Amino acid sequence: MSHDKVEKWIRPEIRALSAYHVPEPGEMIKLDAMENPYHWPEDMVNEWFDVLKNVELNRYPDPSAKKLTEQLRKAMAVPEGADIILGNGSDELIQMIALALSGNRAGKECSMLSVDPGFVMYRMIATFAAMDYVGVPLNEDFSLNETAVLNAIELHQPAVVFIAYPNNPTGNLFDEYSIKRIVETAPGVVIVDEAYHAFADNSFMPLVNDYDNLLVMRTVSKMGLAGLRLGLLAGNPKWLHEFDKVRLPYNINILTQASAEFAMRHVAVLEQQTQQICTDREILFNQLKQIEGLHVFPSKANFILVRVAEGQADIIFNKLKELGVLIKNLNSAGGLLKDCLRITVGTPEENQKFMQAFKKTLS
Ligand code: PMP
Repeated sequence: MSHDKVEKWIRPEIRALSAYHVPEPGEMIKLDAMENPYHWPEDMVNEWFDVLKNVELNRYPDPSAKKLTEQLRKAMAVPEGADIILGNGSDELIQMIALALSGNRAGKECSMLSVDPGFVMYRMIATFAAMDYVGVPLNEDFSLNETAVLNAIELHQPAVVFIAYPNNPTGNLFDEYSIKRIVETAPGVVIVDEAYHAFADNSFMPLVNDYDNLLVMRTVSKMGLAGLRLGLLAGNPKWLHEFDKVRLPYNINILTQASAEFAMRHVAVLEQQTQQICTDREILFNQLKQIEGLHVFPSKANFILVRVAEGQADIIFNKLKELGVLIKNLNSAGGLLKDCLRITVGTPEENQKFMQAFKKTLS
C-alpha cells in the first residue's frame, strides 16, 4: 500500500535511477576514486589539530567563507574581476547550476549538454533537477567531435554545457580551440570542469574574463582534500550572483573552512604530492604500455584508462579484488567504455602492487 504512494509521488525518472554506488574498500588498495594517496607530515598534522582545537562548533560557519575564498582565489589563480562561489564538493555546484537553470522556457524543458563518455554526475544531476540531458558521443580515440557538439548545441539550445578538462573517465584534455568554439556558439553558460587541473598543464581559468558565458569549476578533492568536500566555481559575477541564490546557507561547514584555510597555507605540500603523482602516472603508463593486447589511453589526470581484451574486464576486475586491489570497472557503461577499466594512480608501492596483481590476472 505505501508502495503505491511511492509510485504515485516519486517522479518516474527518479524511480528509474539507481543510487550512485560506492563500493566498500575494506583492506583493499584503493585505486578506484581518484584520491590522493598521501596524508601530511606529522608536524603539519599536529599544527592542524591546534587549529581545530579553537574551532567554535557551537557557531554557524561564515556563510560566505570570505577568508577561505580569498585564499582559494590566490591558490587557484582566479583572475581579478571574476567572482567565486563555493560548493560542498563540486558535485554541489553542478546541482546548484542545474537547479537555477531547470524548468520550462517557451514551452520547452531546458537541457544540459555534455559528452559521452563523460562524468556521470552531470546526467544524474540533470535528472534530479528535471532537465533534459544531451550526451554527444566522443570520437573513438576519446577526442572531442567538435562538429557533433556544435550541431547538438544548435539543435538543442542547451541552457548549460559541461566540459570536463581533463575528461573523466578518459583522462584526456580536449582540443582547446574546439572548447573556445563551443563557448562562442553556446546560447547559455559553459562550465569547464577542471577537477583534475592539478595533474594537467592547461587551464581555462585565465580566460574567464574573456567570455561572458564561461565559468571554470575546480575542486580540492583530487589535490588531497577529498574528505573536506569543497569545490569552487569562478567567472562572470552576473551568473554567479544567480547561482548563489540556490546555495543552501552555510554549505561549507566550519571544520571544512578551518581545515581548507590551513591546507591553503601549506599548499606547497599538496603541490609536491600532486607532482609526485604526475611522475608516477608516467611510470605506470609506460609499464601498462608494455603489456601486449592492452590499449592504454594517455592521461593528463591522476588516473589511467585501459581497454582489455574483449569480455575480460569483469573477470580481471573481480580477480584484482580477490588479490586486494580495487579499481573502477567501466565495462557495464557500454559503448566506448566496453572492456574498459580505470586505475587511479596511487603511491609507487601501491602502483607496483597493482601491476603485479594485474599481470597475474592476465596470465
Ligand atoms: N567533476 C569531475 C570531472 C569529477 O571527476 C568529479 C569527481 N569524480 C567531480 C567533478 C566531483 O568532485 P567533488 O564533488 O569531489 O568536488
